[in-house]
Amino acid sequence: MASADWGYDAKNVLKGGPLSDTYRLVQFHFHWGNSNDHGSEHTVDGVKYSGELHIVHWNSAKYSSAAEAISKADGLAILGVLVKVGPTNPNLQKVLDALNSVKTKGKRAPFTNFDPSCLLPSSRDYWTYFGSLTHPPLHESVTWFILKESITASPEQLAQLRSVLSNAEGEADVPILSNHRPTQPLKGRTVTASF
Ligand SMILES: [Zn+2]
Repeated sequence: MASADWGYDAKNVLKGGPLSDTYRLVQFHFHWGNSNDHGSEHTVDGVKYSGELHIVHWNSAKYSSAAEAISKADGLAILGVLVKVGPTNPNLQKVLDALNSVKTKGKRAPFTNFDPSCLLPSSRDYWTYFGSLTHPPLHESVTWFILKESITASPEQLAQLRSVLSNAEGEADVPILSNHRPTQPLKGRTVTASF
């Protein structure tokens, strides 16, 4: 059993549980699929969810930047939250509203006073394992925390994620209908529950 006493302080510093260092927030992002019956990168007992939130942190106790930490075995800690189709999620809506101003590739917009911990479910129970990034360069550098309790997104909110475009402004619209990596075999990794 992994320790249940992990914490997230007001500055989005993640510590405790399987971690022996402190990890600072660097970014968060979502994965989704082209329909609501799949889209998560993790499955629970084979069950796929509609999406998954990844809140990415880097080991700021040992390394000087996220770029340096990304390739180190103890470099990253990612909080993964499964997203299930259901009622409208008001905190997720704040992110979706901001996405409207960065619809195309390369666009940037200020997005301040948003604490991604507001997207977390109420239970802190999690599964943990040591693994990799799910997108290239796929470094084996991630201590994963997959929260047991999922959060919801409405069908409209999932549709809004799929309407984000991969093309630059002025080019033909290419919506990102799906951006999840298929679940990989465990390959002997141990997954430990905190509960
Ligand atoms: Zn991810």
